[in-house]
Amino acid sequence: MTADACDYIEPVILADNLIFFYWGRHPGHGNLDMQLGGGAWVIHDGRDAVVVDSMNLPGQGSWVRRYMEERYGITRFTLVNTHCHEDHIAENHVYADSTIIAHEDTRRLMMEHRESLERGSPGVPAFPVVLPDVTFRQQLDIWCGHTLIELHEFAIHERGHIAAYLPRQQTILVGDMLEDPVWIFHFDVAPADVQIAELKRMAAMDLQHIYPAHGDIDTIRNGGYGTSFIQCSIGYLEKMLAASQRADFMASTAQDYIAAELDKGELHWWPPYEQVHAMNLRTLQQLAD
Ligand SMILES: [Zn+2]
Repeated sequence: MTADACDYIEPVILADNLIFFYWGRHPGHGNLDMQLGGGAWVIHDGRDAVVVDSMNLPGQGSWVRRYMEERYGITRFTLVNTHCHEDHIAENHVYADSTIIAHEDTRRLMMEHRESLERGSPGVPAFPVVLPDVTFRQQLDIWCGHTLIELHEFAIHERGHIAAYLPRQQTILVGDMLEDPVWIFHFDVAPADVQIAELKRMAAMDLQHIYPAHGDIDTIRNGGYGTSFIQCSIGYLEKMLAASQRADFMASTAQDYIAAELDKGELHWWPPYEQVHAMNLRTLQQLAD
């Protein structure tokens, strides 16, 4: 696929200096992340841009870069990878001429999985693995012109996952640490109780605008999520943990755990998330074995 074929990407203006590049929702697509919907962000100031995640499929990342060059006159890019999953690193090669920043575990995991990523897998096209060249642990502050961007590590969803926090705008870009309607569990990052504590640590930050990579686009368009969104993620995990010993656990649906949040409009159902919930059921079942 060439960049020209990526005209379905929608630049959603979140703030004067912040754009979400949304690849939309494509039911029946061979790639799960295209079914779920998602995107990546660009923070910009003058001719500088900090790109947070490099998109999902071949051509998407170069489409974003060209858009920023042509519409905003950006001449200097920095790329940040929130974590090592394919739909966040697939087009890193577009920024091979730029500084690429990530947590040191993200670089390590990309190296470990290089061979399989460069071979591709069903629904996930092969892509060249281009590694971050600046790594850190815990926290790193970077600047895009006059905009301070704090990169914060949290032990949620994947090893080395970081969020990009814009303190003056009370805005946080959380990657996959939060997802609407349900997030994806991995417990090699940290046990469930630690991840819940990490979510609470995030909720204690000064936040007005929370933006996940995968979420409800109308909510994202209208200022994003508030901190109750973090409580939704905690509740989903806690209720599933409590139910995991029940005989009918594997037959339970995501709606069994988030019905109240869906009713209140805090979460928004999207059918492809049945697959995410099924993965989470299996993950918790394996944990119990
Ligand atoms: Zn992920």
